[in-house]
Amino acid sequence: MNRITPQPGIMDIALYQGGASHVAGVENVIKLSSNENPFGPSPKAIEAVRNAAATLHRYPSTDHASLRAAIADVHGLDPDRIICGVGSDEIITFLCQAYAGPGDEVIHTEHGFAMYRISALAAGATPVEVAERDRVVDVDAILAGCTERTRLVFIANPANPTGTMIGEAEVARLADNLPDQTILVLDGAYAEYVEGFDAGRAIIDARENVVMTRTFSKLYGLGGMRVGWGYGSREIIDVLNRVRGPFNLSTPALAAAEAAIRDFDYVEYCRAENTKWRAWLAEALAEQGVPSDTSCANFILARFGSPDEAEACDAHLQSRGLIVRRVAGYKLPDALRITIGGEEACRRVAAAVAEFKKGWK
Ligand code: PMP
Repeated sequence: MNRITPQPGIMDIALYQGGASHVAGVENVIKLSSNENPFGPSPKAIEAVRNAAATLHRYPSTDHASLRAAIADVHGLDPDRIICGVGSDEIITFLCQAYAGPGDEVIHTEHGFAMYRISALAAGATPVEVAERDRVVDVDAILAGCTERTRLVFIANPANPTGTMIGEAEVARLADNLPDQTILVLDGAYAEYVEGFDAGRAIIDARENVVMTRTFSKLYGLGGMRVGWGYGSREIIDVLNRVRGPFNLSTPALAAAEAAIRDFDYVEYCRAENTKWRAWLAEALAEQGVPSDTSCANFILARFGSPDEAEACDAHLQSRGLIVRRVAGYKLPDALRITIGGEEACRRVAAAVAEFKKGWK
């Protein structure tokens, strides 16, 4: 008998499907499938990585004090209430490891980000999916789904892959009506794309049961560096630090993130381009009979008449060197999630969809 078996729940985890980055036989490919910053990292981050190379023989900082100070400075936060991780994925993992185990429930919403379920199962907990309303997080459905075993509730605001978000009053209503033993996690991976949005900071400061996660992978253009962070009460951050490995972030990653967050001009440029071309692309596709919900993030969820049409359009876009994301796995088989590239990418997508629509009966 084979005694080498994984923990219960592990084999229920579906392997994460990363997107392709090239198409055989097609040149000039643009990848619009992972919500990355199309303009690349800040030049200051590149320079910081070069400079960090000289100290690669040393272990990196264990407490990330310098990066936490920079984050605190830019966002007006207390550095002692910040924890840094290998992408915000790792903060999600820490939360599940530290707060959810066998017998506990972790709520995510219908179209919620895949990592919530993966991390809950990896911790031995039970993921519980609750319905959304027209692709928007539904606070009442979440509250109705809570039990005395619910330990964590994850919502992304703005959400991936829908791009929709709920207002601060709704988030506060959710936080205030959760069971006593439940932490609300506000995943702010796309928060930087919402002008003037504090991603729940005011809500967190007024409560003990809310945590926010953020990332350098999107607006800051550092997906390849894997840097994210979390913000919450001192007690929760202390707990998360206990499950964190001592050297979880590399020296180049720390240096890149610190330089990127202080490159205000570059950040502003990227945000403004995203806002401009997101509106342009949504309108261009809507004119061709491909609607999308108003997106607050760096992608749009383009909806087609049927799963077959979405699949055929995906294939057509690929043949034109445009890699977007089918979201069949997220139960939206009639949709394509398209990252907002720069002007050239958006114009190419609009032209290719128009071409596709002409040939689609
Ligand atoms: N949350 C959401 C909603 C996301 O879309 C992503 C990335 N796709 C993440 C978290 C994780 O990002 P990272 O680990 O790169 O910080």
